[in-house]
Amino acid sequence: MKCKVKVCEEEVHAKSGQYAGYCGIHRMRLMRHDDINYINSPFQRFKKYIKVIQRDYETPCWEWQRSLSKKGYGKFKVNSQNVSAHVFSYEYFKGKIPKGLQVHHKCNNPSCCNPDHLVLGTHQDNMNYKVKCNRQCKGISINTAKLTSSDILSIRAMYNDNKGVFGIINQLAKQFKINRNQISAIINRKAWKHI
Ligand SMILES: [Zn+2]
Ligand SMILES: [Zn+2]
Repeated sequence: MKCKVKVCEEEVHAKSGQYAGYCGIHRMRLMRHDDINYINSPFQRFKKYIKVIQRDYETPCWEWQRSLSKKGYGKFKVNSQNVSAHVFSYEYFKGKIPKGLQVHHKCNNPSCCNPDHLVLGTHQDNMNYKVKCNRQCKGISINTAKLTSSDILSIRAMYNDNKGVFGIINQLAKQFKINRNQISAIINRKAWKHI
């Protein structure tokens, strides 16, 4: 037996009771929302799939909790079309994206959908940014992540106490099991700036 809703081709879910004669989906809509036409809006689904997490950027990222593309972008479906979650977010909060422009992440976190972290730019802008970031950030913040704040304070204090001592950087690198460049970055506050 088919569902009571005329256009619905689904089989009836329950034959008796309050929602007799409806398929599973229509029965659920009536039960939960008392509205046979109720559909979760894309934005309602979007909200469920994000988690607010503080990363390196000034304000927290909204990280996508569902599947990600190879580039790390959130995958979202709207009206059976695939759209990147951050693109959906940009358009929802800030408006249509003009032709030729792309949405970039100021926070450098591709799965982030926080509209405040999203800016429009050309493909070239993004390339320039990546080159700049590679030059400046590589090997600095990434691999020192295993250290704790107190390690950082110790490294800086030990360096200050032993300034001018031959091989102090090598010695610190050995002791904290990171390389010389990382030690220098910590001392010069290129890494762990916030401490
Ligand atoms: Zn139905
Ligand atoms: Zn972010």
